[in-house]
Amino acid sequence: MTSSSRHLRRHLPRALLCAGLGLCATVSVSWACALWSPHPNMDPFTMGNVPLGEPNIQVREGSSFGRTYRLAMTQRVQVLVRLVNDGSSIHVPEDDVDTAKAFLLKQAESSGGRRVDNPEFEVDRGAGQLSMDVVYAEVRSGWPLRALIERSLGKGADAKLIGSDPPASLDALTSPGKLRSWGADYRTMPIFPIWSGLLVNTALYASLVWLATFGLGIARRAKRTRRGRCAECGYELAGLTKCPECGTEAVKPDFASPVSLSRCFAFSLGRDHAVSLRRDHAVSLVGPRSTP
Ligand SMILES: [Zn+2]
Repeated sequence: MTSSSRHLRRHLPRALLCAGLGLCATVSVSWACALWSPHPNMDPFTMGNVPLGEPNIQVREGSSFGRTYRLAMTQRVQVLVRLVNDGSSIHVPEDDVDTAKAFLLKQAESSGGRRVDNPEFEVDRGAGQLSMDVVYAEVRSGWPLRALIERSLGKGADAKLIGSDPPASLDALTSPGKLRSWGADYRTMPIFPIWSGLLVNTALYASLVWLATFGLGIARRAKRTRRGRCAECGYELAGLTKCPECGTEAVKPDFASPVSLSRCFAFSLGRDHAVSLRRDHAVSLVGPRSTP
């Protein structure tokens, strides 16, 4: 078996484990930020004057630790539909006039107890008020980069937001007082990946796990060497130059203690290189050995 394939066989399982733990950490941190990071303060939506047929798009975005919340809406003009016969009226979106007429007629007949003869309607387009038309909500979460995302879209006055828990009511989205309530706060655990952020965060957390386990390994080997045991398996060497258990060449304690920069560096290159590095450079890197 070649030296490189031995290194691969030795380090691959740990690398995979670190990557897996890194991914778990990335998702956990993202969800924790999505759930508990405070909701950002955002300006409320304004109801302005919009010419008939023109869209009015407003976007609000705010960030807190590990969480970005974006809310967008379009407004649409509503028209006033009035049943002349009894004077009842209702505001509806422009393309819902027929539904409104049917509703007013049914309401008049059920309250009057008889059929309305020759119903007459007025549609007042000038008296319309604005209503929310399309609502888009987006949550991105993760630290240090945003790694997961959840999007939802609602349309119409009684829209359900798609793919996640909808706010209690669409009114809640435009009322600044209610923006901090649970519904509009839009607490959801995003599940869709933002690949760049997911990969960077996973690499970062995996590196931290690797460094933590790597450091433990170095400390353990240094301790064994100091006690005159095999650095790899802990077998009592008692002056032997090679471990009879695993075949590792014995390292003289004076190079191994204290845990030196050269040793850390050498170990990161692999065991075989480490031995030669120790032989050639350890003394100069560690400095003169203190006399016992
Ligand atoms: Zn050994």
